[in-house]
Amino acid sequence: MKSPLKEGLSVLHALEEHGHQAYFVGGCIRDYVMKRSIHDIDIATSATPDEVIQIFDKTVPTGLQHGTVLVLLKQSSYEVTTFRSEGTYEDFRRPSEVTFIRDLNEDLQRRDFTMNAMAMDRHGLLYDPFGGQEAIERKEILAVGNAEERFMEDPLRMMRALRFSAVLGFSLAAETKEAIQRLARYIAHTSIERVAEEWTKWLACADRDAVDVWLSSGLQAQLPLGEKIGPALPAFGAHCDEWSTTAERWAFLFLLAEMSPSDSVAFLRAWKQSRTRSKDVTEKLQAIDRLKTTGFTPEALYRVGERNATFAWKAMRRTTQTEHITASELAERFNSLPIHHRHELQMTGRDLLAWTGRSPGPWIEDVLAQAEKLVVQQDIVNDNIALKEWFDEHH
Ligand code: ATP
Ligand code: MG
Repeated sequence: MKSPLKEGLSVLHALEEHGHQAYFVGGCIRDYVMKRSIHDIDIATSATPDEVIQIFDKTVPTGLQHGTVLVLLKQSSYEVTTFRSEGTYEDFRRPSEVTFIRDLNEDLQRRDFTMNAMAMDRHGLLYDPFGGQEAIERKEILAVGNAEERFMEDPLRMMRALRFSAVLGFSLAAETKEAIQRLARYIAHTSIERVAEEWTKWLACADRDAVDVWLSSGLQAQLPLGEKIGPALPAFGAHCDEWSTTAERWAFLFLLAEMSPSDSVAFLRAWKQSRTRSKDVTEKLQAIDRLKTTGFTPEALYRVGERNATFAWKAMRRTTQTEHITASELAERFNSLPIHHRHELQMTGRDLLAWTGRSPGPWIEDVLAQAEKLVVQQDIVNDNIALKEWFDEHH
């Protein structure tokens, strides 16, 4: 057993000592079987949430209505969920009721794909009632049971299928794929929060094949992607391996879709993305706009910063907007900037107060901004004495 699971053994142990059954389940076992790194550990147990809370010192009731309690132990946390089967689904959303049960098999049966419906006990014995290991060997995503029924219960599973296909490089089993093509329109019944979470995970690792799978699924036509993003996806697929962060991927997609920074902000807000993410993406689009307008001047490079400038340079090279410098010229221009951040300026607000005896106020920022600009343009040397001379002369 690998170390993250090994550490989790004490949780299984404690539950069993209190007379309950407990197993590692879901993604951690899929990743264990695939020898991938394990990032979070889900545990299924016959204990009720109340029982779980009583057994462990530190717990957080993260999803009591679904039977989930987060158990904190040493440096790690474990999602401990009571075995459950799901009642009838209302409006394709969440099950209208969750029935807690005392049986592992029934719990595995409600899970989405065979590779995600495996469990392991504390002796390392694997429970794989639906052939998850074989599906993994075939590199195939296969719904547990009847694919159409499972997607009708929760249409988000269709997007999960595409996301896992992109993350793991697996293909969709024929019946699972056909069910998605037939039922794609039902994704409209799923909340934008859930859809956006899956789409973002997909976007973060999509490659050309993943984009093809996505386009052939029929799902893209059913999502509120607007008129521009769908048509931009094939071009995105051709270059998506160039980007290392999700923000870069969003920004490149918006660029291909010819969406302005403000359209992009509105889109990301509607798609419930965090402010940080939105800021990160729009700064990249603004960097492109700025560098397109002014060229790769020292001042523009200083303002947008190296990361965004490098992104903009790559993105402009990949679209028709040609840039006029090479990668090494870009690096060279950054290296030769006299400063890269305001804090490298050899003149501070404190200096200004000492030199003038004036009281603090907005004038300080004005002077610092002027000095910063002149230093970046190499009109003044970044040196405390030179900056004082300039200040005395001009203020
Ligand atoms: P990862 O965390 O790597 O993205 P995961 O498989 O752990 O993948 P989670 O969303 O963390 O995915 O869900 C944990 C487990 O819960 C899944 O492996 C699956 O067994 C089950 N599960 C999650 N969402 C659904 C769903 N919509 N329908 C059915 N089962 C689900
Ligand atoms: Mg998980």
